[in-house]
Amino acid sequence: MAEIVYPLRRLVFRGVAGHCPACGKAPLFWRYLKVNGRCEACDTDLSRYPADDGPAYLTILVTGHLVVAPMLVFPIVWRSDPAVSLPLILTGLAALTLAILPRIKGGWIGMMYSLGVKDTDARLHTADAAE
Ligand SMILES: [Zn+2]
Repeated sequence: MAEIVYPLRRLVFRGVAGHCPACGKAPLFWRYLKVNGRCEACDTDLSRYPADDGPAYLTILVTGHLVVAPMLVFPIVWRSDPAVSLPLILTGLAALTLAILPRIKGGWIGMMYSLGVKDTDARLHTADAAE
């Protein structure tokens, strides 16, 4: 279990807001999902905190399990004409996915920063390091 170096909740929320988890002043991303190498305000090396597949998995978890499954409870979804409902549902899911993915990735990086997990730690857990 990783030791919590900094307050977890505050740093996760800074990441969710798209700000540097260390200072909360400068933007975390320079493009849609591209993390700034260094923070413009506090010079923290943000590229050292890995996100890997965690944000994508959490995004699938949120959209798939918390949106799609409950949506199927409503009969209008599965009784309507698929030519009408499918484009509407897929467009909504795509918009939701694109909206929450950078927030989840920012929160993930904030969590990694808070726990002190860096890219060198992530390499220790790969199958290549076991050899
Ligand atoms: Zn900063």
